[in-house]
Amino acid sequence: MSFRVGFGHDIHRLQPHGRLVLGGVTVSEEMSAIAHSDGDVLLHALTDALLGAIGGGDIGELFRNDDPKWQDASSILFVEEALRQVHDAGYRVVNADGMVHAERPKLSPFKRQIVDTLGRLLHAPVNLKAGTNEGMDAVGRGEAIAAQVVVLLERAGE
Ligand code: MG
Repeated sequence: MSFRVGFGHDIHRLQPHGRLVLGGVTVSEEMSAIAHSDGDVLLHALTDALLGAIGGGDIGELFRNDDPKWQDASSILFVEEALRQVHDAGYRVVNADGMVHAERPKLSPFKRQIVDTLGRLLHAPVNLKAGTNEGMDAVGRGEAIAAQVVVLLERAGE
């Protein structure tokens, strides 16, 4: 048996206009993440978790935020590239567990859709948790959104 674990974290500032995408799902049309790409913190954390598990560096090395190619890019592209690297390294995803921290918007109406989207992307069971920051720090003041993801990989064919 050969297992690898990976962890990813991301945080983006929020602005009071535009469209907020989380796990590939639009969760608000009254705010957006300030970012070079679409600013999907959950997919950025997932990408970093996948890369981390195979010792593949981080999202910033792969998709430079000064590269015009990634301007407003869908972060699904980042996950797909990280997954390609996982498969090339001979691994597959066993499961993923994620946590989003946001004071707003309310995420419960979107959790099922996000979990389904990520499950289809990873071909593996996904769990998602969401919480506020109890009014503390930038997330708690509604100025930012953050996410953490852990993934487990196993060597393909085992
Ligand atoms: Mg990011």
